[in-house]
Amino acid sequence: MNTHDTDLVIIGAGPAGLFSVFEAGMLKIKSHVIDTLEIIGGQCCALYPEKPIYDIPAHPKVLASDLIELLESQAAPFNPTYHLNQRVEKIVKNSDGNFLVTTSKGTQINCKAIIIAAGCGAFGPNRPPLAGIEEFEGKSVFYAVRSKAEFAEKNVVIAGGGDSAVDWAISLSETAKKVYVVHRRDKFRCAPESADKMKKLSAEGKIELVIPFQLEALAGSNGKLRAVLVKDFDGNVKEIAADYLLPFFGLAMELGPIVNWGLNLHKNHIEVDASTMQTSAKGIYAIGDIATYKNKLKLILTGFAESALAAHDIRKIVHPDEVFHFEYSTSKGVS
Ligand SMILES: Cc1cc2nc3c(=O)[nH]c(=O)nc-3n(C[C@H](O)[C@H](O)[C@H](O)COP(=O)(O)OP(=O)(O)OC[C@H]3O[C@@H](n4cnc5c(N)ncnc54)[C@H](O)[C@@H]3O)c2cc1C
Repeated sequence: MNTHDTDLVIIGAGPAGLFSVFEAGMLKIKSHVIDTLEIIGGQCCALYPEKPIYDIPAHPKVLASDLIELLESQAAPFNPTYHLNQRVEKIVKNSDGNFLVTTSKGTQINCKAIIIAAGCGAFGPNRPPLAGIEEFEGKSVFYAVRSKAEFAEKNVVIAGGGDSAVDWAISLSETAKKVYVVHRRDKFRCAPESADKMKKLSAEGKIELVIPFQLEALAGSNGKLRAVLVKDFDGNVKEIAADYLLPFFGLAMELGPIVNWGLNLHKNHIEVDASTMQTSAKGIYAIGDIATYKNKLKLILTGFAESALAAHDIRKIVHPDEVFHFEYSTSKGVS
């Protein structure tokens, strides 16, 4: 059994969770961070790593993946421990008032306080029901684009008709050898300008629209894709030579075990006291997209401010006997 002791467990390594490491660190609070995904970054890295964000203060334009790298390096001086690829399943309050957090991989962490920065809940892609798809996942089938460079000069099949499918088809068509878009109907559920742009690229031969078709099977071996088979509504099957398949059928976001932690919830969000971000359970805080209160704005910048509020309240739990003198980072520095 993998057991640890720390001051604070942060559930979720999205922007709000990452900034909490910094805010807590500045108040001498040590953190462990847990996320279901294999990478840090939450929605920024799982859904739109290559998209620019325009409303981060002092960054007129920053790529979502760059923002996460910056947050990671800002947190680094406080030596957080990351436990990735595992979901927090259980929180138990011990008789001494501390918590025992247990993950799906059996990691157990004793801590004095918890910040839930779980966004919309644990992410999981909507996977197409194709026989043997597990063999290809993470090798030639991906549910998110982490780096555009990986697909340069490759044949890429994108399946789906929403914003992610269309945006990535447009973006990858700049560098891929060929991009195919498989969709079951002529209409796309995306921004109309994006659909127009994709159709223009299709007319120029940069994207091939495979419509109305659905994914039927995968061909290849040892995780390496050779072709994607698609089928139309008359049962005609077509084979597309492909190096990669990107099924973009949305992400299933489920609160998962969070609903069993005894917290007050409102429409799948955790209710908090907006002055401290504490939930209905003492010592458990919620910030970022998962937290709700009157006039809540689901923005990254809101999550940053909420991190500071939570950290300052948690300081009273972790260092109850210390007299606190508020200091700016300019006077305190980062140690
Ligand atoms: C396409 C798109 C564009 C956007 N553009 C902007 C923008 O321009 N500006 C802006 O401010 N916002 C934007 N947003 C919204 C922004 O991304 C979110 O507000 C932000 O990511 C919320 O951060 P978070 O840290 O609260 O949660 P998230 O980023 O959702 O991260 C939560 C993490 O918690 C993990 N998790 C959940 N449950 C568990 C569990 N039980 N155990 C372990 N891990 C768990 C999840 O796997 C996830 O990685 C955009 C969102 C999308 C989808």
